Order: sequence, then C-alpha cells, then structure tokens
Amino acid sequence: MADRDGLIWLDGDWVPWREAKTHVLTHTLHYGMGVFEGVRAYSTARGTAIFRLQDHTRRLFNSAHILGMPIPWDQDTLNEVQREVVRRNGLDSAYIRPMCFYGAEGMGLRADNLRVHCMVAAWSWGAYLGEENMRNGIRVRVSSFARHHVNITMCRAKANGNYLNSMLALQEALRDGYDEALLLDTEGYVMEGSGENVFIVRDGVIYTPDLTSALDGITRRTVIALSEEIGLKVIEKRITRDEVYIADEAFFTGTAAEVTPIREVDGRWIGAGTRGPITERLQSLYFEQVSGRRSEHPEWLTLI
Ligand code: PMP
Repeated sequence: MADRDGLIWLDGDWVPWREAKTHVLTHTLHYGMGVFEGVRAYSTARGTAIFRLQDHTRRLFNSAHILGMPIPWDQDTLNEVQREVVRRNGLDSAYIRPMCFYGAEGMGLRADNLRVHCMVAAWSWGAYLGEENMRNGIRVRVSSFARHHVNITMCRAKANGNYLNSMLALQEALRDGYDEALLLDTEGYVMEGSGENVFIVRDGVIYTPDLTSALDGITRRTVIALSEEIGLKVIEKRITRDEVYIADEAFFTGTAAEVTPIREVDGRWIGAGTRGPITERLQSLYFEQVSGRRSEHPEWLTLI
C-alpha cells in the first residue's frame, strides 16, 4: 500500500506517496486517539463525483469534537482537499481516506504538547466484500466480541481506537471461515458489522437497530431515505439475534461495503439463502444514486 505512485495531502502539502510518513513515536499509533473517514467517489456521466462529501466531513469534525481534538483546518478546506486528491491522482472512482491524528511531539497519555496532523489519501478500490458476494450474499457469524458499550468509548465518533473491537471481531469471523462478523451490543441485541450497519427485511418491512453503540452510517441514512422514497417502511428498533435468523432478507451497508446482501448467519440460511428482492432493489437504487443516474438528491454528489 505504501509503495506506489501518487500524491497524499499531509498537513497542507502534496507529498509523493512513498514519502508520506510519520515518526514511530506518533501518539495516535500508540494509543489510538485519532479520527478518520471513509468516503467514495464514483464515475458519473458528468464526471467523477464524491458521494455525500459534506456529510462525511461533518462527521469527521464531529468525531474530533467528541474526542476533544482540535482540527487545524476548516470543513471547506478539507472538502476541497478531498476533491483535489481524486483529481491529482487521476482517479475515475476512488476510496478517500482522511485522517486526523496526534503527532510525535510528546509521549504518554499526559502529553500536552501534541499537534493535530491531517492527511488525505485516495486510491481505487472495488467491492470491499467482493463482486460475487454483491450478487450472492455473504456468510456472517455472530461475534463472541460485544460491540462497544456507549460509556466505554464514544460510538458516535469514527475513532481509530474503536477499530480494535472491529478487528478482533473480523479476525475471529475470517478465521472461522466466514466473510464478516455481526456484533451484538453489551445487552445482547444486534448492533452492526465490523465496518457496516445492518438491516433485515421481514414481510416487506425493513428493520435496522436504533443507533446506540453503532456508528451513524451515512450509507445507512442513504438507504433509509431511498427505501422511504420507494414506499418501503423502515423501522428502527432493537433487534434480537433470532430475529435475524428468521428474517426474509438481511444486508449490510457501508461506504466501503455499499449494500452487501447477507445470505447466511451462524449456519442458518437467511430467507432463500441468496440476495433477496428488496435487497436487490435497494442495492441497484444505491448504485443509481451514487453514480448520478437518479434525479433525486443532486446535493449528495460533488463533482471533483
Ligand atoms: N459501522 C462501522 C463500525 C463502520 O466502520 C462503518 C464504516 N464507516 C459503518 C458502520 C458504515 O458507515 P458509513 O455508511 O458512513 O460508511
């Protein structure tokens, strides 16, 4: 990943990809106190466009606010940088990764002289969970790791350190031969995937866990809006693990994962054991929306 051509924005400068480095005493590397985003740009008939750029940048600043981390740039500047990183790297479609982290100015939890550094990189990234899985669905296991408790870490923040929990769950799932983990909250209710929000469908109605310890996903919000626009009812509520087992359909949403069908959970088929019709409808609507083939929500697309 580090050994390639391209340019990365770091603290206001455009740095050759291979030289975009930080010191081994970088504070965030040691303690995980940092914030980041995952954003996608898609090829559209009018040129490459970033999907819900302003919403992602707002969440980045909210995450930093939650952590008490002052970002030394404003949102408009970082929006411009994200457009430019796609342009400068000559990408038609892209995954964009902004991150704000504490530097190597001090060490220890009590360091009080830390600077906040910002980077933005972009590269081309296809289907996060694989093209075939987008058609046929993925196999998921309920994790032995619970999702964070709301008073143990700040779940509204997309914070680096929160991903230790995601990584433990994902590694366990992959080791056991599954494609992704489904994490329950500390009370045992279904919460989210390691990097995705989760939805189920039953009798034509869509359900998703209400946001307690799950990230307030931008794809989740998009899918809720799209569902309602085509007349489907969406209910946010507590969901139990066995409700997922007996759902007609289930799917994950995320910027990287887009809309990924779930065909199996803990060895039980979900519905017909393949991508369900409502999932398929929402998945294609999502792709129409992000690639500018829908007339609704032009404000969600920012041309680079
Ligand atoms: N939950 C977690 C833990 C995530 O990492 C992500 C990916 N950012 C999501 C949900 C989905 O969020 P979004 O749709 O904004 O990418």
